[in-house]
Amino acid sequence: MPVFPQSLMAAWFLLAQAVPLESATSLPFSPLKLILLVGWACFCLYLTPRLKDNPLVPSEYESLFQVATLLGGPLVILVLVLTDTRASARDKSFWDRLKDAMLGTMGVKPMPVEESGLQLFDANGAELSRLYGHGEAGPGDRHVLAMTVQIIEEAVRQRASDILIDPKDHTSYAVRLRVDGALRTLRILPAATSRAVLNSVKAVSSMDLAERRRPQDGAFTARKGDTSVSFRVASSGALNGEKLSIRILNQNAGRFTLADVGIPEQQRSIILGALGKPFGMVLVCGPTGSGKTTTLYSMLNAIDRQTRNVISVEDPIEAHLPNVSQIEINAKAKITFASSLRSILRQDPDVICVGEIRDEETAEIAVRAAQTGHLVLATMHCDSNPTALIRLLDLGVSPMLLSSGLSLLMTQRLVRKLCRQCKRPARLSPAAAEGFRKRGIDPGRMFQAAGCDACGGTGYLGRLAVCDLLSVTDELRTEIANNPGLAAKLRSEGEKKSRTNLKNEAFRLVVAGITSLDEFKRVVG
Ligand SMILES: [Zn+2]
Repeated sequence: MPVFPQSLMAAWFLLAQAVPLESATSLPFSPLKLILLVGWACFCLYLTPRLKDNPLVPSEYESLFQVATLLGGPLVILVLVLTDTRASARDKSFWDRLKDAMLGTMGVKPMPVEESGLQLFDANGAELSRLYGHGEAGPGDRHVLAMTVQIIEEAVRQRASDILIDPKDHTSYAVRLRVDGALRTLRILPAATSRAVLNSVKAVSSMDLAERRRPQDGAFTARKGDTSVSFRVASSGALNGEKLSIRILNQNAGRFTLADVGIPEQQRSIILGALGKPFGMVLVCGPTGSGKTTTLYSMLNAIDRQTRNVISVEDPIEAHLPNVSQIEINAKAKITFASSLRSILRQDPDVICVGEIRDEETAEIAVRAAQTGHLVLATMHCDSNPTALIRLLDLGVSPMLLSSGLSLLMTQRLVRKLCRQCKRPARLSPAAAEGFRKRGIDPGRMFQAAGCDACGGTGYLGRLAVCDLLSVTDELRTEIANNPGLAAKLRSEGEKKSRTNLKNEAFRLVVAGITSLDEFKRVVG
């Protein structure tokens, strides 16, 4: 009488569901599944002894019934689990999903919860476990802390620039990483675990844990051995809970050169020419996430900081630069770009670096400083060089001042580089290939993205800047100073030209097989 196999299997399944191998907190508890399992086990225990000699079951079908009761429960559970994981693991193969389901990991990447050696510290140098659980962290707390540390560590390992933790619905949260400008899902966590992880991040970022709706800002540092990484955290209330975005400051930015950023030789010499002048403003423009700060740092690296007094005002300071006096903006302490700039000008600077021109006062002081014998490097949030000029005029900088202060305008975008290990020749339609050939371009040298382990399946690894430069020549200077219809002209002709320049630069990378046509279209198309 095979009562035992069914009961044993039911017990094993119950155990596997209740205590999945390693990711206990990443498994969403489903009461429905548990009820089904318990029901099935009872059904097995009730039915199997009664099968034999039952008039309803012909003896030749008895073994078939045995098999059906043995496999029925697990099959139902399997179907439930596979439908559960369908949404979160659409890119996985059926067998991978099956494996995940059998291991009880529900499509969530299994990561062993163990001491990694990475520690998180708040602004005062207090360690996370002291802040969360007040030094007496229970087993549940320790698991949350380990998970927080894991997420941070994984983000740093994947070279992410941001970690986003958002409620997906009322039962789960998505943890996503922004790598090379594109988002990818790291894991899906049940709401209760996510809230605990959110609280631990908020605790180490010196935020108010009770405040779940109003936006808050904070910062923390991660250390492992003698390397450290800084993080800026912003929280706010969202539908179904609270969302958190963690920005990872790029510590390597301080070591980049103009060549590392990807600026070609010809453009480098124009930039170096402007940086070599004793005065004038070099303005780097671009939308959010276009790498303006990194370019600004690489410009500072091209300046001889032993012989020139360099002071920078930043929000926030991303990386430490030797021989630069770096000042961080702090709105709460009333340290603004404008107030810092005013005090800097009294400290005999040669080079002033302005993290971002956002308001009239900063624009005015920065351009005036550039006109009165200082080299000023600054960034501005706008699409193109012509819009930067229009924006400065809109901010109330007089055309006279602007014409004498500006030296070089530069707009940039970041283009993802194809992963060298997996890129494959581009598949083009015969018409498109013929079109390229007519323009003297060899389509055989173009590549497209594939995806491998090295690039996380995206087909891209690392990014390069593509730039449009606008040197402020004497001719342009006269035009800025005297032409009242300049803004209209810039809007029509200037922007078109700027876009064409950016396209040409990006296309050069496609032809060289460094990036793909798809990426070209995404960034400048
Ligand atoms: Zn690859």
